[in-house]
Amino acid sequence: MKFSDRLLSTLARARSVVAFTGAGISAESGVPTFRGNQGVWSKFKPEELANIAAFMRNPELVWQWYAHRKKIIAGIQPNPGHYALAEMERFFPSFTVITQNIDNLHRRAGSKNVFELHGNIERNYCMTCRTPYTNEYVLSGDPVPRCTCGGIIRPDVVWFGEMLPEEEWEGAENACRSAGVLFSIGTSGVVYPAASLPLEAERNGAFIIEINPEPTPLTGIADEFLQGKAGEILPDLLKNIRSANKEA
Ligand code: NAD
Ligand code: ZN
Repeated sequence: MKFSDRLLSTLARARSVVAFTGAGISAESGVPTFRGNQGVWSKFKPEELANIAAFMRNPELVWQWYAHRKKIIAGIQPNPGHYALAEMERFFPSFTVITQNIDNLHRRAGSKNVFELHGNIERNYCMTCRTPYTNEYVLSGDPVPRCTCGGIIRPDVVWFGEMLPEEEWEGAENACRSAGVLFSIGTSGVVYPAASLPLEAERNGAFIIEINPEPTPLTGIADEFLQGKAGEILPDLLKNIRSANKEA
């Protein structure tokens, strides 16, 4: 892809960059979307399983669903889009990934500075004492895993109707307020409050670059709309950033 001079010179000057990502950045890794539930799970809506009331009513059912999703996600790999973002960290004084995804692929690709707004499916914790537990532990024992304190263990993901984790949210907001450039990548920009973050960055003067095969409600505020796949556009952009740094 050919990038505009305006985009490249803005990036060359940028000191603080945010990459705000959604399900689309993981599409090329083959992460099935929430809505693409297969087999026995197709008769449930995610809203009916991913909430605290459903969990308290039938923890075994909700745990079966998460065991299924955890196994799928453990078997997929980060794609060139994740790897390009991880490498971009090296070229800017501040580079922050803010993701709505729970698949852990940014960290697996090597990104260090990541805020996870909706949790992480590779983590779990006790609802009583908050002790963390690995997937290995929760998937190898009882259908409803228990903590040594007797409490029920749950996946460390944000369910429908729950608040976002406070520290992650505050970190994300601060990064957006001070961002010179914000990338909005593979997100439909309709899930709130997460979708308010690019707007916040824009209000504070950030240059907004959107990467998506389709226009979204955010396209209107984007300074540049790069139409296409994250796994193709981000590696191209990284090449430009690398060669600009060699010249400097
Ligand atoms: P979304 O499904 O609403 O939107 C995905 C966006 O990605 C769309 O705009 C689509 O056009 C775009 N897209 C598709 N392929 C792409 C590609 N190759 N490159 C770039 N963009 C591409 O996703 P959302 O905005 O993240 O909101 C959905 C919610 O569901 C989030 O809250 C998220 O937590 C959750 N979710 C997470 C995962 C995951 O962890 N991987 C997967 C599905 C859903
Ligand atoms: Zn406990």
